[in-house]
Amino acid sequence: MTQLIDTRTPDPKKFIPGATGDWEVIIGLEVHAQVQSNSKLFSGAATAFGGEQNDHVSLVDAAMPGMLPVVNSECIRQAVRTGLGLKAQVNKRSVFARKNYFYPDLPQGYQISQFDQPIIGPGTVHLDMPDGPVEIGIERLHLEQDAGKSLHDQHPSMSFVDLNRSGVALMEIVSMPDMRSSDEAKAFIAKLRSILRYLGTSDADMEKGNLRADVNVSVRKPGGEFGTRCEIKNVNSIRFAGQAIEFEARRQIAVLEDGGTIAQETRLYDSVKGETRSMRSKEEAHDYRYFPDPDLLPIEFDQAFIDEMAADLPELPDEKKARFISQYGLTTYDADILVVERQSCDFFEDVAKGRDAKLAANWVINEVFGRLNKDGKNIQESPITSAQLGGMIELISDDTISGKIAKDVFEILWTEGGDAAEIVEKKGLKQVTDLGAIEAEVDKIIAANPEKAEQAKEKPGLLGWFVGQVMKATQGKANPKAVNEMLRQKIGVE
Ligand code: ADP
Ligand code: MG
Repeated sequence: MTQLIDTRTPDPKKFIPGATGDWEVIIGLEVHAQVQSNSKLFSGAATAFGGEQNDHVSLVDAAMPGMLPVVNSECIRQAVRTGLGLKAQVNKRSVFARKNYFYPDLPQGYQISQFDQPIIGPGTVHLDMPDGPVEIGIERLHLEQDAGKSLHDQHPSMSFVDLNRSGVALMEIVSMPDMRSSDEAKAFIAKLRSILRYLGTSDADMEKGNLRADVNVSVRKPGGEFGTRCEIKNVNSIRFAGQAIEFEARRQIAVLEDGGTIAQETRLYDSVKGETRSMRSKEEAHDYRYFPDPDLLPIEFDQAFIDEMAADLPELPDEKKARFISQYGLTTYDADILVVERQSCDFFEDVAKGRDAKLAANWVINEVFGRLNKDGKNIQESPITSAQLGGMIELISDDTISGKIAKDVFEILWTEGGDAAEIVEKKGLKQVTDLGAIEAEVDKIIAANPEKAEQAKEKPGLLGWFVGQVMKATQGKANPKAVNEMLRQKIGVE
């Protein structure tokens, strides 16, 4: 269905060299994201993760004869919000269609999806790659039902079906074939995940299976016609998506360089072997015989509804990044790290407000994120609050403590809690800015090391050693800048 328009200028940095010359890899993704909603797309059954098998199944989900689907308006709102977040066209009229196929975990015998009239039309996702920005086209977003799950490993000779997921709402987000490297594809999935989470329209948690990607890959000689693609189904991590693309591109290149042709087919990625394998060829592909679902009316809404959704959209990652750079003077690098998760941004802004924002960004990224990562925790589980960290940063800013002492204070805040100012007071960690006290130490060290002091005049690098000695003598409490200046003066370094 996609009209294949080439939006990119071939970039030699991305080419994969082969025996017959360079190759360009073309990638398009179909991402399935579970809609965040308490109940399913056409029934009141719960969408909760886990629970006993077949606990969350209504008569509609079990496809009992005579049951009629009723669309859940929350899912419509979520799709529209997502469309707006993808800067996409929102279609005021869209139609549910039946996609017919047989599978034991699909009791209806068809999946209710959208075909030629999806709820969301063309949009874009912006990527900031190391080489510069890239715009990835979104072809469409449509709503559809998830299927149930077949369980084959619970009994030696029987299979079971769990319908808990049957009828859960999914958004299928289809990209244009606009990506040219596995890095871009990985960045695309990560960005989409961020946007969905900011919007609160999907948990987008790949580990829980509520974000899955079908990865379409083809190769061509740079700037030539698009080649035949293979679709790798149901890749469930960003890392695996990257690996699958790398493997698949090289496989296709090898076939073509051997004089062979690529057959359009569906493949799967085996993450243990690190390879893709054929599942079914185009000839074996289903003929879904789509037709408009006669049990459901078209979805129709007006501009006022779209405007209402647009009015309560949160600030999204791209805008936040731009604002962090202009408002707080952050580097692109720091802003990029912060804006991945909305909660991290809130934490940072709470720390930064009215304080030294760059210092705040450093502490949040290096210390807080660093330690949370190590402990496998997210920002909501941080043992240190933004207020506690903010208090400590004020003490650094007004020279009450040095950056070095701050590390100790941070450690105490992290493991024992408390208030930075009180800790500093109680433990006597205040920085010594009293020049007289510093001078006494400086004089003592120089007097004890007259030869070194002489050498330092020629080799100013030695000054660091003296600074270290004074810091040691003051248990790290001397103001390092003052120590440095005084040493230079006393020793006589230019
Ligand atoms: P279908 O309707 O059969 O699912 P589409 O044309 O809608 O196929 O495309 C499905 C996905 O495959 C889209 O993400 C699209 O960008 C991608 N795609 C299409 N052609 C190519 C190609 N030659 N190489 C890589 N990806 C492609
Ligand atoms: Mg498709």
